Amino acid sequence: MTVQLDDVTVHFGRTCALEGLNLTVAAGETVALLGPSGSGKSTALKAVAGFVRPSRGRIRIGGVDVTDVPPAQRGIGVVVQQYALFPHLRVADNVAFGLRAARRPKREVQQRVAEMLAMVGMEAYARRFPRELSGGQQQRVAIARALAIRPPVLLLDEPLAALDAQLRADMLDELQKLRREVPDVAIVYVTHDQAEALALADRIAVMRDARLVDIAPAAELYQAPPSAFTASFLGGAN
Ligand code: ADP
Ligand code: MG
Repeated sequence: MTVQLDDVTVHFGRTCALEGLNLTVAAGETVALLGPSGSGKSTALKAVAGFVRPSRGRIRIGGVDVTDVPPAQRGIGVVVQQYALFPHLRVADNVAFGLRAARRPKREVQQRVAEMLAMVGMEAYARRFPRELSGGQQQRVAIARALAIRPPVLLLDEPLAALDAQLRADMLDELQKLRREVPDVAIVYVTHDQAEALALADRIAVMRDARLVDIAPAAELYQAPPSAFTASFLGGAN
């Protein structure tokens, strides 16, 4: 499903965290938001998720204006630090949550939960509670929960940051597999890691000081950076 941001602006008090963002992510497309810390990447994602309210602009998902729709009714999969696992639910029930809300048949829920937990290597932890897991393990369960419903829109904010190198590579593979299996999914992927952006994204959007500076297909951005900022950011060891 297409995600469309028109002139989306977000203020926190006097801080302008996002200034007039125009961005369309097509169905089947992955766009990475890349940029230094504090440039507004997470704020952009939270606006799409519905966790923060724009002071200006509109957000459309599949052509429907969702600017005033609560997060839970936007039908999107979200992995952000602030959207933690439900602490009172076991791992399996966390992953099953969206499927049960969608009233999927019991057998299908069980099968899908097992499949998702296997995908993130957490089968052995199905009966545990989130507080019994490490940060990285919680992150893996959060990814399983987000993907369980096969969401038409997936928002990921540094989803691999807490994982070790091997697991990060495995999860990147899984995300690429997801893109093949769910060809219409639109993914917005926030990262400061250029390698991740290159591995996953069709286009890379570079952000700086609350604004979108450049957006281009990944290869193009590297071969011919449209701005001096992007050239130096991509060239730097961030
Ligand atoms: P990034 O994800 O690119 O590191 P953020 O979107 O988190 O950047 O932040 C953009 C700007 O908005 C920063 O200056 C940050 O300090 C500010 N900001 C983000 N969230 C809040 C908040 N809840 N309250 C106040 N300021 C915030
Ligand atoms: Mg951030």
